[in-house]
Amino acid sequence: MALRFFNTYSREIEEFEPRDPRARPIRMYTCGPTVYSRAHIGNFRAYIFEDLLQRHLELRGYKVNRVMNITDVEDKTIRGAREANVPLQKFTEQFKDAFFEDANTLRIKRADEYPAATDQRYIDRMIELIGALISKGLAYQADDKSVYFRINKFPDYGKLAHFDLTQLQSTGRVKHDEYDKEHIGDFALWKAWDEADGNVKWNSPWGAGRPGWHIECSAMSTALLGDQIDIHCGGVDNIFPHHEAEIAQSEGVTGKKFVHYWLHCAHLLVDGQKMAKSLGNFYTVPDVLAKGYTGRELRYALLRVHYRVPLNFTWEGMNEARESLARIDEWLARLRELTGRPRRDVRSAQQAAPASQFEDALDDDLNISAALGFLFESIRETNRAMDQNEMDAISAGAWLEWWKRINTVLDLEAETEGAIPDEVTQLAQQRENARHEKNWKRSDELRERISALGWEVRDTKDGPKLARGAGSM
Ligand SMILES: [Zn+2]
Repeated sequence: MALRFFNTYSREIEEFEPRDPRARPIRMYTCGPTVYSRAHIGNFRAYIFEDLLQRHLELRGYKVNRVMNITDVEDKTIRGAREANVPLQKFTEQFKDAFFEDANTLRIKRADEYPAATDQRYIDRMIELIGALISKGLAYQADDKSVYFRINKFPDYGKLAHFDLTQLQSTGRVKHDEYDKEHIGDFALWKAWDEADGNVKWNSPWGAGRPGWHIECSAMSTALLGDQIDIHCGGVDNIFPHHEAEIAQSEGVTGKKFVHYWLHCAHLLVDGQKMAKSLGNFYTVPDVLAKGYTGRELRYALLRVHYRVPLNFTWEGMNEARESLARIDEWLARLRELTGRPRRDVRSAQQAAPASQFEDALDDDLNISAALGFLFESIRETNRAMDQNEMDAISAGAWLEWWKRINTVLDLEAETEGAIPDEVTQLAQQRENARHEKNWKRSDELRERISALGWEVRDTKDGPKLARGAGSM
């Protein structure tokens, strides 16, 4: 069965066809965290959906090249740094670290790159894009010295959000601080420096200032993945104006279709309400861990609902997640016990190797609830067969093999004591690559990341060895 996804752009389920032949990686861009505070579980719902998407594509034999940006300069990060009275870099660093820590707790696979907006390479790229937009008449510098995108010159503006531009004109009351714009919907590409920005500024042909949030993603995605990408993801709240603006900027410069499939994840609610600090229902990953739940349980709770359906997070749901995982654990233990057992008289071995329903469900716009439904139905049936002594070691082995395969997508197995997590192994591998390339800076960075996960790399004459770090539990 072919892979199908709901494309926000067309509002239709479309068959997935990568732009390049299968041998080339799929280019995937996912909007990452704005590091002005610790990300909440609603943010992580979207990151887990993206993780599921990447893992399923890989299960289906595709290679994926995924980029996730880190927004470390925009209004909120600048305000936060000012209020904390620390340099921007120092302020955002703690939330970057927290993001990686939480992503690791939730077993989210690492993207290939995490570009940061303040990296000079990307600032240069943003300036280059803005210059190109101005020369094409798609952007202008206003009297307030900021540079804006001219949405009236981009006829496709509003197509992703299915948004009627004339409505924006008729309802919009021009805000005081936006009087310089030609159109209420024109968005800032470059924000002229003002006192509140402190020493956060870069030079540009339009004077000192800083980039707008939207141009950051256009610059980083085109710099790392090229002019055209296969899949772009985010939460539904990114659709307008952020992704709409990304299309206008990127296509405005390149003249090519920027993204082929737009996938958006629905909101997370807590006890049926929007999460808000004022309602006391605002949770981060450590908040959930503090209640005695594990990262694995939270991963399951955030994963199990179809990504286009709002997910209602409740503590009851967390308990259900715990029960479901316990059923999986018991089932796996039983199967393992059976495969290790010498042959006994088995009445009849009716349990053939499992069918492909799990993968097929995920092919259908990542229908995870149907896929999990099939998993638990299989658990029920095989348990019954084991109860009745109707399963032999070979069938049990086939089920374990099947689990191993689907668990590359789910990543829900209980951690075994002392085993090196995949995450750490991958980082160690990347560090080896960096060492071969004599990229010592990256190699040191990777060593630090490994150490943050509680592991230590020792370079021995037989190559690098991983050991539990001194400071870990
Ligand atoms: Zn973005």
